[in-house]
Formats: sequence, C-alpha cells, structure tokens
Amino acid sequence: MTKKIYGIVGHPVEHSLSPAMQNAAFDALGIDAEYLLYDIEPDHLGYFLKDLAHNKISGLNITIPHKIKAKDYIESAGSLDQNAVRLGAVNTVKLSEDGKLCGFNTDGPGFYRSLVEDLKFEPEGKEIFVLGAGGAATAIIMYLGNGPKKISVSDVDNDKIKDLKNHYKKYYDEARLSIVDSGGLKTALSTSSLLVNATPVGMKESDPSPIGKDLLRSGLYVYDLVYNRPFTRLVKDASEIKCHAITGLGMLLYQGAIAFEIWTDKKAPVSVMKRALKEAIKKRL
Ligand code: NAP
Repeated sequence: MTKKIYGIVGHPVEHSLSPAMQNAAFDALGIDAEYLLYDIEPDHLGYFLKDLAHNKISGLNITIPHKIKAKDYIESAGSLDQNAVRLGAVNTVKLSEDGKLCGFNTDGPGFYRSLVEDLKFEPEGKEIFVLGAGGAATAIIMYLGNGPKKISVSDVDNDKIKDLKNHYKKYYDEARLSIVDSGGLKTALSTSSLLVNATPVGMKESDPSPIGKDLLRSGLYVYDLVYNRPFTRLVKDASEIKCHAITGLGMLLYQGAIAFEIWTDKKAPVSVMKRALKEAIKKRL
C-alpha cells in the first residue's frame, strides 16, 4: 500500500504545530502516512481542493485565512457536516473512497472536550463570558449554541460582534447572546461562571492580560485560547487568586484528535499527540 498524505492548508502556515502532533499520531499507531504543510494563496484554494485526489491527498486541516472559502467550495462540490454548516467554516476535509470532498469543523467540539475534560467545566445552564468575537469565538459560541443559560460577548471590533449576532440568531435564541461594551465588563463577569479569552492578547510574552485582575474572582473558570506558550498573564493572574485556569493547548489537541479520527477511523493516541505538541511549543519559545 502507498503512503497516505495529509496536511494543513493556510497562508502563511509554517508556524503550524499540527505536523508535530499528527505525524506523532501516525507513528504511534504504525500508520504509513505523512502530514505536510501547504502554503496556498487564497485565490488558488479552489484549484487546490479540486486537485486533492490527483495529488493523492487523503485529508486536510484548513487554517487562516481559508476556513470560510473552503466551506463555500465544499458546499458546492461535496458535503458538509452539521458543525461546518452552523459555523459557516471548515477546518477539516476528508476525501471519501469515491473521491468526494467532505467538510467538517472540529474547533467547537475540540473546545468543548477540553472545557469538560481539562477545565472540568460543564457549560450547560451556566452564564459564560467570551472576550473576542472573531473566528475562534464564533466557533465556540456556535457550538455551545443554546446550551449555556446566557453567553455575553465583548469585542473592540463592532462589525465582528454584528456578524456573530446575525449568525447566531439564524440557529439559536438570540436573547441568550448578550453584547457587552467595555463599560459592562465588570457586571457581565460578576454573573458569569466561565471567562473565555478569544482574543490574541497573550500570544506575545510582553502582552498584558486582556482582563484586569480586579475583575477576576476566586472560583471563576478561565479558558484562555492562546496556546503558543505554557502560561499567559491572564492564566497567571487567575491562578494567583484561585480561579481554575488553563491555556488553549487542549482545544488545539482535541480539534486535531477529532480530525485524526475522521481521517483514519481509529481512536487518536491523545497522550502521544499532547506530548508532541508540548515539545513543539517548547522548541519555539
Ligand atoms: P480573530 O479572528 O482576529 O479575533 C479576535 C478578535 O478579538 C478580533 O475581533 C480583535 O479585534 C479582538 N480583540 C483584540 N484585542 C481585544 C481586546 N483587548 N478586547 C476585546 N477584543 C479584542 O482571531 P481568532 O482566530 O479568533 O483567534 C483568537 C485567539 O484564539 C488567538 O490567540 C488564537 O491563537 C486562539 N485560537 C486558539 C485555538 C486553539 O485551538 N486553542 C484555535 C483558534 C484560535 P481587532 O481585530 O480589531 O484587534
């Protein structure tokens, strides 16, 4: 049997940690496969997806800036799972045996699994606060849907908030999604059990916390989506006052593990993948 090829498509993409995680998983299960990086310009994405079979690529992850364009292409040329439809974005592609493109979104389920397994937080019936309304926040909120009692969102970019609200109300009860401006952060956080940082603030070592320490309280659950360093200022502040706080490594891990299971129909070796991710992150610090 010939080696199977998988990979991640983005632009740029060389920073991706996915090859370390996915190649470790293939090695651990003795699967003859390789996971590569594909830096594809937005205008060429359609041609690239059309040629997957010809290029003998069995499956892909899709990252910035291609997730929405990939959804549009696969919607017309293949089929989408419910998460990809609801979110309006694809992060995982599988080429079926008969050469058909199938699009999935594993970001929301990956976050949910990490939230429950790593942070030990069940969002159903709770009030949650999400800082940021971009791609990652949208993935999370569209997956949580009507599960939480209330979702408050705040972003410096009003257009992103509007897009999110419009998208949310197509599928869910819009009364559950509350838009908060910077003046309302304190009140919204005081009634929320979970704070999610879905901004890029924290990716650089010199970054401050996106939320003042005085707005945190003991017992609050804090999920910082930033994954490129073991700790962020927010996670440090939160831990100091006895919040339950983690970074986004688990979301990255589980979105990748779910993609691996879609491609291979085998249980992902999660501990091997986690170790590979941690090593790759350490090398880049
Ligand atoms: P994005 O689409 O750029 O969205 C981030 C949003 O946050 C933007 O609208 C941005 O506004 C806003 N923002 C920035 N600083 C803010 C602040 N202090 N207060 C309120 N809003 C603020 O980015 P994304 O793709 O959603 O990614 C967000 C973060 O999640 C990144 O750190 C990314 O690495 C992480 N992430 C993690 C995973 C994982 O698996 N763990 C997956 C996806 C993303 P402006 O654009 O105007 O600055």
